[in-house]
Amino acid sequence: MDNNRVRANESCGQDEDFLARSMESADWMEQVRNLNTEYALRTGKVRTYRLDVFGCQMNERDAETIAGMLTNMGYEQVPEDQPADINVFVTCCVRENAEEKVYGHIGALSRECEKRGSIVVASGCMMQQPHVAERIKNTFRHVKIVFGTHNIHEFPRLLHQHLTSGKRVFEIWDKEGRVIEDMPIKRSQRHKAWVNIVFGCNNFCTYCIVPYVRGRERSRRKEDVLAEIRALAADGCREVTLLGQNVNSYGNDFGEKDLFARLLYDIEEIDGIDRVRFTTSHPKDLSDSLIRAMKECGKVCEHLHLPFQAGSNRILERMNRKYTREHYLDLVDRIRDAIPDIALSTDIIVGFPGETGEDFEDTLDLVRRVRFDSAYTFIYSPRRGTPAEKWEQTEPHEVISERFKRLVEVQTEIATQLAKKYEGKTVEVLVDGPSKTNPEMQSGRTRTGRLVNFRAEGDLTGRMVDVEIIRAGAFWLEGKEGVHRG
Ligand code: SF4
Repeated sequence: MDNNRVRANESCGQDEDFLARSMESADWMEQVRNLNTEYALRTGKVRTYRLDVFGCQMNERDAETIAGMLTNMGYEQVPEDQPADINVFVTCCVRENAEEKVYGHIGALSRECEKRGSIVVASGCMMQQPHVAERIKNTFRHVKIVFGTHNIHEFPRLLHQHLTSGKRVFEIWDKEGRVIEDMPIKRSQRHKAWVNIVFGCNNFCTYCIVPYVRGRERSRRKEDVLAEIRALAADGCREVTLLGQNVNSYGNDFGEKDLFARLLYDIEEIDGIDRVRFTTSHPKDLSDSLIRAMKECGKVCEHLHLPFQAGSNRILERMNRKYTREHYLDLVDRIRDAIPDIALSTDIIVGFPGETGEDFEDTLDLVRRVRFDSAYTFIYSPRRGTPAEKWEQTEPHEVISERFKRLVEVQTEIATQLAKKYEGKTVEVLVDGPSKTNPEMQSGRTRTGRLVNFRAEGDLTGRMVDVEIIRAGAFWLEGKEGVHRG
């Protein structure tokens, strides 16, 4: 695949100005590369960058595109703890504490940038909010370039502008553009890859900032997704995770029904890919044909992330989730009827405005009934510009914290019980590499998404290994020495 080519998704119709501008990205990359070649010849040094990524898999994937562009432009990546010429932040605004961390990390670089003449580039969801961009502009003089989620492909032009003028460049599009294909990518792992299938979200849950900062749903063409996965397989990738805020509505913007299920059948035919995962599934859109595809496609892993957010119908309605607890429970039954060993994970919000003790008990009840393998649990955090931001919090903070603690206890107990069923069993593990906490152990994931650490000679990164589990906790499994499969 030609790394430098930038192409807009032609199936959506085209705004000529947008197309013209996006086609220029490759040229801007070349111009920056030329500047860096001159710099290297003059100084004997190569310019460097480092990445600081916050938030979800979408941001991880965006960071791979930014890294791809920087590599293409002649920059070398350095580890997070080393100084660099360009410090890129990919930011998240889904919760307040993530935002505060970003401000903290950017502020901490002020002295280093002044001393070294290096710069900060701020991008991602936070930058789509005008008050954030304004604060960055006024508070952090060492932030020289800002762009948002809709104009990542414009980064080379903005960088060129800064390098040649020395000026600060802030450019944020307030509206999403077309899907841009074939941007350069520097993947963080070879054996596993994130693959975007749909961008944006049309759902407008009342607590969520995503539709405002990532725009409306735009699907990639199926041929483009499949071409990317075939290229990944040819390059040694074994597992793909298909990404979208709501993968179940993939293709709806083309007027296509059940395109996501059909995509899974097509990926099943790609040699070299052993595992397929996807995230995130909205419960209101998970169809029977998708359940059938998950059952019939052997490569689709037995793991489903299905956020339920709240167990009370009253709160679900206030959240604009467009399903009831009865629908959710029925859906779980249908999924388990089709795929009995499936592991389920979920997202749960505690303390949504108006949540009473009774509503919270409904949430706990749903957790006990479904018995999730894992759950991402959050205390509600108001986001500026969302409907729920204006709704009064009726419960004191201590009450909400207590509810949160109870929820975590119940969920941890369930996850521990479910983990015990792995003890004494042999599971297939795709190895990610040495464990972060104990480099003598190798670490990887089961098809059900469980983390496994086990002893092994040498680095088995990217290998498929059979591991007998000897101990199990809520968040990890420990295995005996693994037996290679391939
Ligand atoms: S489905 Fe709801 S929670 Fe998920 S991204 Fe869209 S608006 Fe946010």
